Amino acid sequence: MPAMFISIAIEDSVHKDQELCNRLVSMCPVDIFEISEKSQLITVEENLDECTLCNLCIEASSDEQIKIEKLYRSDSN
Ligand code: SF4
Repeated sequence: MPAMFISIAIEDSVHKDQELCNRLVSMCPVDIFEISEKSQLITVEENLDECTLCNLCIEASSDEQIKIEKLYRSDSN
């Protein structure tokens, strides 16, 4: 059965809005976002597969700013 995994793309404009970055970090129920040392919004790779597709992050931003892609990996084993 193909395994689903998530890829989240963060548009550059998000990084310019520190308030939005902080909101995204605090609202994601599974801690997918964090602020890097350079004050950029980044994703926590090891938490990506915990994404519940709740869309809170998309609703908090414009849908062009955060994009969630569902990817499938076909593991034949
Ligand atoms: S969809 Fe929900 S769980 Fe997934 S990254 Fe956005 S806020 Fe977090």
